Amino acid sequence: MHPTIIEINKKIFENNLIQIRQQIGVGVRLLLPVKANAYGHGLVLIAKLAEPLVDYFGVACLDEGISLRQNGITKPILVFGAIDEEQIRGLVENNLEITISSMYKAKLVHDFCLKYSKKCKVQIKVDTGMNRVGIRPESFNPLLEFVLASNVLMLTGVYSHLAMSEVPDKSVTNAQITSFNLIAETVKARKPSVICHLANSGGVCYHLSSHFDMVRPGLLSYGYFPGEKLNTGNLVTISPCFSLKSRVSYFKVVNKGAGISYNHRYHTSEMTRVVTIPIGYGDGYRRGLSNSGEVLIRDKRYRISGTICMDMFMVDIGRNGEAYVGDEVVLIGRQGNEELKIEELARKLDTIIYEVLVGFNERIPRVIV
Ligand SMILES: *Cc1c(COP(=O)(O)O)cnc(C)c1O
Repeated sequence: MHPTIIEINKKIFENNLIQIRQQIGVGVRLLLPVKANAYGHGLVLIAKLAEPLVDYFGVACLDEGISLRQNGITKPILVFGAIDEEQIRGLVENNLEITISSMYKAKLVHDFCLKYSKKCKVQIKVDTGMNRVGIRPESFNPLLEFVLASNVLMLTGVYSHLAMSEVPDKSVTNAQITSFNLIAETVKARKPSVICHLANSGGVCYHLSSHFDMVRPGLLSYGYFPGEKLNTGNLVTISPCFSLKSRVSYFKVVNKGAGISYNHRYHTSEMTRVVTIPIGYGDGYRRGLSNSGEVLIRDKRYRISGTICMDMFMVDIGRNGEAYVGDEVVLIGRQGNEELKIEELARKLDTIIYEVLVGFNERIPRVIV
């Protein structure tokens, strides 16, 4: 067994999905975004745990969708990303729902399906304020009519994306909700079964009127609030299901004044004990945490000493520090009464939780506990 692992706590993850169900109520569907290796948690592992509890999966690209299908996932899968012409065959053959954001793309998919006598499920993406991909509301009606008139395209959904649902100022989100309301009314008048959806994690938490027919919370499902943590209501027990753990792989006593690791960016202040932990930036434990990241060993917090290497880093545990080769090291998560939160890593790295999570790569095995 690899000494460094990511543990996924099944109970906590399932509880997060159950809490989200309570928040949205019966009748609103739940799509779980599993893009970017399920936010670093492990694409297939998470999809298998979640399949009985969700209605839909969301992925960013064709490869992620194929991976889910090849591993036996049968629930509907929506591909969020804008598609390339060469990908249409793969999308159609794997029964993936394609996002249509322009008349041009709609026609490409329509023509492909006609030529090869296939049918394809599609969802129209509308831009209500993100200014990323999506048809503008002014141009929506002709695209809707084209898709509805096509006998090879099956319209299953219409959606849009919130640009700032996690911030206290609700004005931009409210404008997006108003705009999407008009779109949804138009759609319902033409085909009531089409699923209209808008809410990401921030929408689910802070904007009840953004829920429509389905919600798409990513970060929240994995246990993190995108903005302020809610301490009342349906989401109180939302909690991270991800822990990063390793084991002490080496122990040595080092003299006073010795430089540690590349470029000696850390010097010992006394004769001391130094342990080595087998994880580095080659696993996604970011080099920016050199001399600033912390770990838990034997229920105590220690700071990383010196530069983080590709495959390991060192920790000065002090002249009386206690650690043995094989001891558990927690890098994210709980040990005893201590907890190292990913928020701390994100703050030190001047980034968001999302980016830290997705950075942990395939070299670290994901294990269900
Ligand atoms: C990533 C993504 C989401 C989930 O966003 P969170 O902030 O993690 O909830 C929802 N919808 C779309 C289209 C996305 O790309």
